[in-house]
Amino acid sequence: MSESDPGLEKEAAQAGKVLPGERDIIALGIIAAALIMFVGHAAAAVPGVLRFIEGNGDGPAAYLASALLLNTALILFGWHRHNELMKEIRSRRKAEEQARELAFTDPLTGSLNRRSIGPEVDRLVAEAKNSGNEHAAVAFVMLDLDHFKQINDLNGHRAGDTLLVTMADRVRDVLPDAACLARLGGDEFACVIPYDGRDAASIDRVACAIISAARQPFEVAGGELAVSLSVGIACSSGLPEACESAAEEMLHMADMAMYHAKKNGRNRYDWFEPKMEHDLRSRAELENGILAGITRGEFVPFYEQQVDIATGELTGFEMLARWNSPNLGLVSPDRFIPVAEELGVIADLSEGVIAQALRDARDWDPRLTLAVNISPVQMRDPWFAQRLLKLMAEANFPPERLEIEITEMCLNENIGLVRSLVTSLKNQGVKVSLDDFGVGYATLAQLRALPFDRIKIDRQFISRLARSEDTASVVSTIASIGEGMNLPVTAEGIENESLRDSLRRIGTFKGQGYFYGRPETAEQVRARLRSEARLAVDGRERLALAGTDLRAAGA
Ligand code: C2E
Ligand code: MG
Ligand code: MG
Repeated sequence: MSESDPGLEKEAAQAGKVLPGERDIIALGIIAAALIMFVGHAAAAVPGVLRFIEGNGDGPAAYLASALLLNTALILFGWHRHNELMKEIRSRRKAEEQARELAFTDPLTGSLNRRSIGPEVDRLVAEAKNSGNEHAAVAFVMLDLDHFKQINDLNGHRAGDTLLVTMADRVRDVLPDAACLARLGGDEFACVIPYDGRDAASIDRVACAIISAARQPFEVAGGELAVSLSVGIACSSGLPEACESAAEEMLHMADMAMYHAKKNGRNRYDWFEPKMEHDLRSRAELENGILAGITRGEFVPFYEQQVDIATGELTGFEMLARWNSPNLGLVSPDRFIPVAEELGVIADLSEGVIAQALRDARDWDPRLTLAVNISPVQMRDPWFAQRLLKLMAEANFPPERLEIEITEMCLNENIGLVRSLVTSLKNQGVKVSLDDFGVGYATLAQLRALPFDRIKIDRQFISRLARSEDTASVVSTIASIGEGMNLPVTAEGIENESLRDSLRRIGTFKGQGYFYGRPETAEQVRARLRSEARLAVDGRERLALAGTDLRAAGA
């Protein structure tokens, strides 16, 4: 038996046996030689012994008795040494076996680990291929707990470990007999399941069973935890023809499917589709483009007019960010803001465009306000108010002309922190609007949670105004809430004259929308204001003033 036959070695270790090749040849040789010599000496000594018993002699010669004694000692010595060696081999084998187990299994959950699942997948895929059954297939099912970091942070790592162990047990319970489970690391598990490729529904059932097993409450750290997981599935029939490692390829495919499940709401499963790879690549390109775009200053402010609906008078502008991407053209914020939030660069991006907007708006008629949108993620930064005030100071922009627009999502953040940020800004004269009112679940109580200066009704209500009685009553209810709470209301998304007229009939609003004008660049706004004689300081004038200042300083 060779050293590299782990199967036999494992069997031997479990049975406490020593394999033939491992026996101690020297000890056995000594015992054999001693036995042969013993037999030879005993044979020579026996006649003397017999004569001695019959009373005819002095017994065997003294040298024969000594040789017999020496032989006995040798046999005992050889036997002892042999036993010692066998004992040592057994304990070494056990230690080796334990080390092997540790290398191939996950010590926490007892399932296979990342290293051992690969060969297992390759073996099962090869078995399916060589089975002669064209429908034999293998599914690679990848699981990842949703928000596990949060669970760990809130309940401690011990509770996290208990959760993982219980989760592994529950998953094992719903897996078919031929399947195996591995922990890939952290809160990520994989199951490999041989199945009939025509019966994908059997894998759907396993995925559903795993998801519902995870949804049962977990008793951890003296309390109950509600958990969910997301599942991605890859099938061996989707493997490319020329694929170096089935395991690696299936892991990659299942990973993409799992990411898709996470993106689409978690607590669900998705099968891998080739389109996912394309989407993921585009997403990576988008992320890299955004990161590079921030350093290259590709994010620019656009401005949308805000007017008094009753008089049509321009009262200010809302700044809306745009990405001037060299590859994608002009990209709308709905596409890049969520990605920048996830990448953790929203503050950099937002502060860059706000700084530019403050410089642009400084030259406008001082009665015109500037509204900027603030992401809930930015409201997690305790220094946010200071940073915004610093930007205003640097741009020499009066805080009374600035409005920040925050959405109801901010009310889900640490409300104490949000309130203190808003209060600091309000103390400096900045106004605060509640944007997109009506789309979320903000209650009247929540409306009072922050000292808002204005409510903005989401454009989906305004666009439906002409079509639905219900919407008209929602809009007039919001108008009365505003009136009751002494909060002026802005209507977004006014696209035509009839919507404007409906709003005029309902109440007093400020408004914005394509009817008044689409978002424009800083240059377009400047041209518009110049034509209306509403530029406080013209750019050329500013340069001239700066020149005068410099000359004065030089003199
Ligand atoms: P929002 O603050 O509600 O901005 C209004 C959105 O409605 C803008 O879309 C605007 O172009 C669009 N809109 C205005 N009038 C009309 C209309 O009559 N009809 C229609 N169909 N749409 C109209 P945009 O510029 O794509 O911005 C989308 C959202 O992105 C904004 O919604 C805002 O929440 C967010 N956003 C924009 N710029 C920034 C920014 O600098 N920072 C952050 N955090 N979010 C921003
Ligand atoms: Mg807004
Ligand atoms: Mg809005």
